[in-house]
Amino acid sequence: MTFPAANRIANLKPSDIRLMTRECERIGGINLGQGLGDLPAPALVRDGAIKAIQDGLNTYTASEGVPPLRQAIAAKLKRDNGLEVDADTQIVISGGTTGAFAATLTALLNPGDGILLMEPYYGYHLNTILLNGLEPQFLTLAPPTFALDEAALRAALKPNTRAIVVCTPSNPSGKLFSAAELAIIERVAEQHNLLVISDEIYEYITYDGVPHISPASVGNLAKRTVSIMGFSKTFSITGWRLGYAVAEPALAQAINLVNDLLYVCAPSPLQYGAAAGLQAPPDYFQQLRAQYQRKRDIICAGLHAAGLTPLVPQGAYYVLADIGHFGYPTAKAAALAILEQTGVASIPGSSFYQSAAGEGLIRFCFAKDDATLHEAVKRLSNFHP
Ligand code: PLP
Repeated sequence: MTFPAANRIANLKPSDIRLMTRECERIGGINLGQGLGDLPAPALVRDGAIKAIQDGLNTYTASEGVPPLRQAIAAKLKRDNGLEVDADTQIVISGGTTGAFAATLTALLNPGDGILLMEPYYGYHLNTILLNGLEPQFLTLAPPTFALDEAALRAALKPNTRAIVVCTPSNPSGKLFSAAELAIIERVAEQHNLLVISDEIYEYITYDGVPHISPASVGNLAKRTVSIMGFSKTFSITGWRLGYAVAEPALAQAINLVNDLLYVCAPSPLQYGAAAGLQAPPDYFQQLRAQYQRKRDIICAGLHAAGLTPLVPQGAYYVLADIGHFGYPTAKAAALAILEQTGVASIPGSSFYQSAAGEGLIRFCFAKDDATLHEAVKRLSNFHP
């Protein structure tokens, strides 16, 4: 008899991302499923990390991260997010944005607490919630705008709800929460004393001039918000495992206690690389936006031409496509059929939904070089359901 895994593992929602990647590799297809973000990392960031290694900065750091990185982040939060924070007491560098999210849940919520997740959601959010013994509670945002409605938000709350997750720009919908929607969240969070956990990893990847607004910059939200940000997407360094949480000092201190237990510290030389990256001139961020907007437009035009109706994203580097009219029984069946026929992998919408609303959707990731995107679009144009 093999030793059984813990019950908390059995409760996790299995991911179709691995299945689609495996199937894609089996047939040698183009993987627009998983969001690897495999573009080149900027020289500034690479050179900063290499210099740190050569300078011997290879030992443990303080669990909250090295001062130059925390100071660079504080300056960036002021410049780009409208947030005034103290670099010494309010910033915790962690093992990726996902690490900061996990440390936040463990540090600030108790098993059995309810936490509201808006669907479509990012799968890691749900599974980290489940791993922590929290009760996920769902609010479905409906395409094509995924607008937040105040009455629906209030109706989704339960007596044990203690927190709400906001992901802006959102993976997978690309939705950016507007000032009016964040004001709704502020009103409801104030009234019900909720913690707001805001994942802003795609903050610099926004389109058509739609602004990214940090929830903590709205009204009185700063005192009850943990802003979670990172470098994986901004600098295309998903494998470096660097992210951070920003919160009021007492919250940051609790998060850092857990962060220390989970990671000891984030990788030392890579922290210096990220600090160097934050010195990039403003046109780096403009070019990043322009580059992804071009990719978004290539894939959306191609999906449209292939009859896979794109729900054009405002941010992040994913696009949901409506495939409901093809009549497949599930999104997984549709994604597998498209992969089989065209050699292009996507992710079934059911991976991002608890409700059946995801069965008519699939998600493509367009963080790929332009040639790969053009080839994928060409192949998709041959799709016949
Ligand atoms: N948060 C969201 C919403 C994501 O989509 C991703 C990656 O796909 C992450 C976090 C992962 O961030 P990190 O690499 O910093 O852990």
